[in-house]
Amino acid sequence: LTDKLSKSIQKIRGQANLSEDNVKEALREVRVALLEADVALPVVKSFIEDVKTRALGKEVMTSLKPAQVMVKVVQEELIKVLGESTEGINFNAQPPVVILMAGLQGAGKTTTTGKLAKYLQERENKKVMVVSADVYRPAAIEQLQTVAEQVGATWFPSSVVDDPVTIGMTALQAAKKGYFDVLIVDTAGRLAVDDAMMKEIKSLQNTISPTETLFVVDAMTGQDAANTAKAFSDALDLTGVVLTKIDGDARGGAALSVKTITGKPIKFQGVGEKMEALEPFHPDRIASSILGMGDVLSLVEEVERKIDKKKAEKLAKKVATGNKFTLEDFQEQLLQMQNMGGMTSMLDKLPGMSNLPDMVKDQVNDKTTGRMLAVINSMTIKEKRYPQLIKGSRKRRIANGSGTTIQDVSKLLKQYTQMQKMMRKFKGKGMMKMMQKLGG
Ligand code: GDP
Ligand code: MG
Repeated sequence: LTDKLSKSIQKIRGQANLSEDNVKEALREVRVALLEADVALPVVKSFIEDVKTRALGKEVMTSLKPAQVMVKVVQEELIKVLGESTEGINFNAQPPVVILMAGLQGAGKTTTTGKLAKYLQERENKKVMVVSADVYRPAAIEQLQTVAEQVGATWFPSSVVDDPVTIGMTALQAAKKGYFDVLIVDTAGRLAVDDAMMKEIKSLQNTISPTETLFVVDAMTGQDAANTAKAFSDALDLTGVVLTKIDGDARGGAALSVKTITGKPIKFQGVGEKMEALEPFHPDRIASSILGMGDVLSLVEEVERKIDKKKAEKLAKKVATGNKFTLEDFQEQLLQMQNMGGMTSMLDKLPGMSNLPDMVKDQVNDKTTGRMLAVINSMTIKEKRYPQLIKGSRKRRIANGSGTTIQDVSKLLKQYTQMQKMMRKFKGKGMMKMMQKLGG
């Protein structure tokens, strides 16, 4: 999208006002972006309508270009729909505050139960008990026990011979007696929505009257998330949503669908498998990933200001056409990055880059850029073009020449290979196209 959106933005650039036509055109791209991000169609439609109304009524301030206004309107609207402020757990109730976890199997209910217990113990200083009402799989009850032990929460034993309502009631009594602040009730989920499951969790909700009923949904399920959300929202009085697995490749479309369909705040986001991988929901980050634009506009400007256009164009063309990315190109790229004030600051601005594995990020750490350049500078042209030549004695020579070690040389070669892979992945995408455009 970044590419298409910036194309239509390029077109509006330089014009003084947001006209019906250029708004329409930009919105066509936004629509495509939302669909690509797996937002459900009805949700896309209503969102586009909202943005259109807002954009057309918007006066273009003299200090801003129409393109910037448009991007801002879309992003603001997205953040508004996703929920501007983060809402935590509602503690406005007689303790123990009961939290019921609902959702499909594999959505992350049990994991989130543990994460939430840890979060509430550590951040809110609460005494937390957890119980499993998943009576279909003994392993599920044990899974919760393990998780509870891991985070130091009290696990209330339950058994597959009991029914969920009895388990809920008994645990609630125990939580009251033990002066617990919070009781989290984990439940069973099916692979698809079914009536029996809905009836069961509904009667559980009726008997234990939870303060919070959280709908746990896997962000990676994209379009399906909309249907699941509808079913759970119709059957249960939900109070909030937990969006899990946003650390995967999900483009975040599920967030917009689920929020629009349930009308309930997304309270937390799961960002990994570990117990500490739970955060209050950040609408701004999801908004950026849905639109795939990161901070593209400001990046475009920064790049325009600092980069050597001719060289960038050459490099971009090379990569885009699939030509070999040599060490000379890598050297060129490192120099450009250095000019731009470091790679890390640039990476952070690119869409999706904040999700780059730390390993890759560390490898392109600003501090090491200088050393990397020194290593490349000590190579012959032939070595730069045919890096596979660089073995034992050549490595030693390069290390000596650059005042580094053989390990540094090997590391540089590894980084180069990794960059080469990354370049291949980006071929024809985002930054490269953008650079090409700037150059051309
Ligand atoms: P349940 O069936 O709803 O109880 O789901 P589980 O809690 O058992 O989670 C299913 C799988 O998803 C497990 O392998 C979890 O480790 C994984 N999982 C849960 N939340 C997250 C998350 O936020 N990120 C990632 N990467 N994995 C998660
Ligand atoms: Mg479970």
